[in-house]
Amino acid sequence: MELQKLIEKWDEIKEIVTKETETSEIAYNTWLKPLDVYDIVDGTVYIIYSEDSESRMIALIEKKYKVIIKNVIKDITGNQYDIKIILPDEALKINSTKTNNVDLPTNNNSTYTNTSNYVDSNLNPKYTFSTFVVGRNNKFAQGTAYTVAEAPGEICNPLFICGGPGLGKTHLMHAIGNQIIENDNNKKVLYVTAEEFTNEVIECIKNSRNKQNNDMTYFREKYRNADVLMIDDIQFFVGKESSQDEFFNTFNKLHTSGKQIVISSDKMPNEIEGFEDRYITRFEQGITAEIKIPDYETRVAIIKNKIENKDAYFPDDVVDYIASNIKSNIRSIEGAINKLIAYSNLENTDITIDNARDLLDSIISPDKPKEITPQLIIEVVCEHYGVTIEQLISKNRSQNIIRPRHVAMYLCTQETDCSQDTIAKLLDRKDHSTIINARDNIIEQLKTDKELQNQIDTIKKKINSN
Ligand code: ADP
Ligand code: MG
Repeated sequence: MELQKLIEKWDEIKEIVTKETETSEIAYNTWLKPLDVYDIVDGTVYIIYSEDSESRMIALIEKKYKVIIKNVIKDITGNQYDIKIILPDEALKINSTKTNNVDLPTNNNSTYTNTSNYVDSNLNPKYTFSTFVVGRNNKFAQGTAYTVAEAPGEICNPLFICGGPGLGKTHLMHAIGNQIIENDNNKKVLYVTAEEFTNEVIECIKNSRNKQNNDMTYFREKYRNADVLMIDDIQFFVGKESSQDEFFNTFNKLHTSGKQIVISSDKMPNEIEGFEDRYITRFEQGITAEIKIPDYETRVAIIKNKIENKDAYFPDDVVDYIASNIKSNIRSIEGAINKLIAYSNLENTDITIDNARDLLDSIISPDKPKEITPQLIIEVVCEHYGVTIEQLISKNRSQNIIRPRHVAMYLCTQETDCSQDTIAKLLDRKDHSTIINARDNIIEQLKTDKELQNQIDTIKKKINSN
């Protein structure tokens, strides 16, 4: 069967394509590795790009690889096909009986090293794609960033990278810049944090008042002549109007002339407050790539990668200890690794789980069980029933308020150690008798009222997950 044969030969085909196009390891991992043969229908080979992605990315992959894939398939199988690269959800539309189960590719280290010394760019040569560990949490961001690096200004423009602190936004921006210069040393890449940009604007304004000089002109020229402009942490612009205006004028100028812009922020474009809507819209016209918190496997991969790069060795239980306890910030993971390595060098000893526990005590504090307070219960109950705390505490006797009020009283007696008098006081009731009545009332109703039981179960879950 044609399809079977093609699937069998697929790895070989990708290998030849990689060689013939001189595709680097990172480019392979980003673009070719996720490609899987899906089906052959009416003389067309459908190839799935098994990633969370966008059609614009597919366009780029087709542009780079379609013709060569077609030719290699012909050489290997002797058959001439059309080639179509599709996203997983498009596969469902194809007239085929197959189901789609494609694995996420894993990251490989690359031998690529950066040699750029383009000082004016403000780039840190340490942050490259080869030192960036790819996991589920950052795959899309890494993919689009790499695409921008290979085709600046062409496809993902502007690229908006967002995510919490220490998750790799700055690393990816530098990686883009380093890669662009590696590809073409004449490209003018400019990386700046929003804070530095703001300081420059302030400096220009100050100087233009004191002496009649052209600081602002220089400033504008510098930014508006860039081929690639990257501004990090633009949440810093909120409330700084002159800088914001200056930035958007530059942004518009560059964007309309097809120059690449990369922006990072700790929030999604539509969540940033204090920016004009028309600017948010401009951001959203490009691609927004969110970096999420890495899962356990990715954290382990990052830790292993870092210790390997530092020629250190940690036993598996130490790696597991760090990965299990530091979850939401890679900068903190690095801090822990550095601390252990420093200790090991100083004491000339191997790292063990026992000294790791001791040394990381200040960084890792085990999750304390959450305390359930009447306040928390009241908040959750109010939210669940859609009433306000004032209504709950009031003397209002309408049925839709009495139910939540009694539930709150009942849960306070069941889920906290507070005395009935304390609960009464918190809910602005005379004494414990009101609380006891409410509690008994709910216990009675629970015997027959299944819906109430469901409500209470849901509320308990919400309380415990807070
Ligand atoms: P952000 O700008 O999002 O706050 P950074 O880019 O400064 O975060 O990353 C913090 C540290 O974690 C940096 O030293 C960076 O190299 C490292 N880091 C973040 N993500 C990764 C990753 N996926 N692989 C390897 N190192 C990473
Ligand atoms: Mg940063």
